[in-house]
Amino acid sequence: MELYQQANARGIDTFLVKGRTEAERLACMARKYELPLEIDVTVSRCPKCNTRIKPIAKDTVAERVEKATFTFYNEFWECPNCGQIYWRGAHWKRITGTLEEAKKILHGTD
Ligand SMILES: [Zn+2]
Repeated sequence: MELYQQANARGIDTFLVKGRTEAERLACMARKYELPLEIDVTVSRCPKCNTRIKPIAKDTVAERVEKATFTFYNEFWECPNCGQIYWRGAHWKRITGTLEEAKKILHGTD
């Protein structure tokens, strides 16, 4: 808050993100910057090395992920740079859950 006021006083372009929850803050930012509240895997990047990830065939990851993961998921992505494999696991579900919540706040349908 103090930093926001100091920057404002100096004429720096600022935006104070308000909200009690992660979803409220996301909705606040989406409104201001017209952000899409979606995960677009076609433009997703590897969190480890920032390379754009690519979809890969399920049968090519059989030896590279846990057996349970292989059984449970059908879609996989690979980072062509560092070789990291990605799938829509618990982390992905948590993120999309938060995005859905933010969308409800944004569109006032809650
Ligand atoms: Zn990578």
